[in-house]
Amino acid sequence: MFRSRFAPSPTGYLHLGHAYSALTAFETARSQGGEFILRLEDIDHTRCRPPYEAAIYDDLAWLGLDWPRPVLRQSAHLADYAAALDTLKHLGVLYADTRTRKGEAEAALSAPQGEAMVDDGPATPAWKLSLEAARRHLGGRYDDLSFTEHGEDRRADPSVNGDVVLGRKDIGVAYHLAVVIDDARQGISRVIRGHDLYDATHTQVLIQALLGLPTPHYAHHALLLDDQGRRLAKRKGSKALRDYRQDGLTPDDIRALIAATPKAL
Ligand code: GLU
Repeated sequence: MFRSRFAPSPTGYLHLGHAYSALTAFETARSQGGEFILRLEDIDHTRCRPPYEAAIYDDLAWLGLDWPRPVLRQSAHLADYAAALDTLKHLGVLYADTRTRKGEAEAALSAPQGEAMVDDGPATPAWKLSLEAARRHLGGRYDDLSFTEHGEDRRADPSVNGDVVLGRKDIGVAYHLAVVIDDARQGISRVIRGHDLYDATHTQVLIQALLGLPTPHYAHHALLLDDQGRRLAKRKGSKALRDYRQDGLTPDDIRALIAATPKAL
């Protein structure tokens, strides 16, 4: 069965770019006679907030989207991600990293990437995926890792991201692992999301291979640009969907606005 999903993190209000992702996933599922799933990626309790979660439901319903209930909330499944992390540890493809990244903003301002790590002892390590060990484990299959992007075959090259963290020190799990588990658990056949996550696909395809999970088809869409040609982003304070609604725009106006907004990969 065709199944797409929209998987927001409740770390801010949805903006026009999120509406574009959600509408594309929803309308593609409908045109295929399939199912559209909403999933809340709320593992990061340091950044997720209940009002943002409530606003996601409100905004999407207002846009005219519908989805099966109950909605999977990743925070309710931490044990599953921990079990997958254990599986990967047993495969010998993870290593403990006791360094920690200083505050992101501080790091960005004060030091180039790589220099912003401090060693704070072995207490709670982060668990990182070793590409070298993964290659050893998969043998020849490593070089054959692939996925389809808008129906075209692409080779997966996990080296674009290097050794990523799969188990964060603070919350035990990390995005790449949780997303792979849930895309498989929910039988997602096509991952439709913004092009900002295209590179993540390389790593996620590798994790799927290591855990023996299927690789969905992928379709990354172009990103909406603001009037200065910059990508919309929650952290840059892009105008929230709910503010357009307060201004009196209708869901059809939002669709028209998305269509008229310049986009780039
Ligand atoms: N939760 C991610 C985000 O809000 C999206 C995950 C995905 O679509 O793979 O950026």
